[in-house]
Amino acid sequence: MPERIEIEAVHKLYPGGNQALTDVSLRIEPGELVVLLGPSGSGKTTLLRCLAGIERITSGSIRIGERVVAAGRAHHPPEQRNLAMVFQDYALWPHLVARDNVAFALRRSGMGRAERVTAAAAMLARVGLSSLGDRYPNQLSGGEQQRVALARALVGETGLLLCDEPLSNLDADLRERLRIEISSLVRAAGATTVYITHDQAEAFALADRVGVLERGRLVQIGPPEEIYAAPATAFVARFTGLSGTLRGRLLGAAHAAGERVRVTLPTSSTGHLADIDATAMMPLRSGAAVSVMLRPTAVRMV
Ligand code: ADP
Ligand code: MG
Repeated sequence: MPERIEIEAVHKLYPGGNQALTDVSLRIEPGELVVLLGPSGSGKTTLLRCLAGIERITSGSIRIGERVVAAGRAHHPPEQRNLAMVFQDYALWPHLVARDNVAFALRRSGMGRAERVTAAAAMLARVGLSSLGDRYPNQLSGGEQQRVALARALVGETGLLLCDEPLSNLDADLRERLRIEISSLVRAAGATTVYITHDQAEAFALADRVGVLERGRLVQIGPPEEIYAAPATAFVARFTGLSGTLRGRLLGAAHAAGERVRVTLPTSSTGHLADIDATAMMPLRSGAAVSVMLRPTAVRMV
């Protein structure tokens, strides 16, 4: 059964004073696929590790399904959280063949050895590796190893799947193909999924909702179209595919975020460029000096 996730006001301070997460709150519906997007160092892995129970939170709380798994000093270890993880570096057992790597995830399932191996072989077939079950990890390509890791994560049918940049080590072509496979396998499995990446194209292709992390804060969460059309901050706009910025002056005032405004661009040696209609991101007084951020798909010449 897919789990509901509730992250409430989570702070994470590493020993030495590094504040990696600040006041992160996030509710994820059962079966939803949420992608957390942010640059390197923004706290993505830390948040995932806190969810997994590998890292302790400093304050706040985390609920998985009906259980509070972290709050104050209470802390459930990973094996009590009904979840599976996929990592950037695959993390397969080098001394086990692919099928046994997958079967290993079922060691606490109560199944007998033969049943575990059968289930593992079936899962390997679903990720397109039915003929490679007898290979050791070092006899598999990066993409094949990541498919084994995915099979291992899915075979236990846990309620929550956590993916930490699973495609970052693969080349662009394979990354795009596997992205589509992961999306359909994960949706077919029905698990609630938290997937982190620094790649905006990957985030937009996969997510039901995208959350953007900036220096440990969740600055926006919403459907991909909303993040793209109405970024909450200049940082979100820049990080999700901005094509350029123009400086100008506001004609008339904006009383609230979201209002349409007209901006006049300064006259240069080549003459007056244009007036631009844009959306205000905050209240602005008439005549204010502003930056207009451009999305390639949003520009229309009139
Ligand atoms: P991301 O996955 O987005 O690249 P991380 O969660 O790995 O970001 O890191 C967030 C911040 O926390 C960074 O400033 C990083 O240096 C710091 N950090 C990560 N792990 C530790 C740790 N074990 N001890 C101290 N600081 C850490
Ligand atoms: Mg990371």
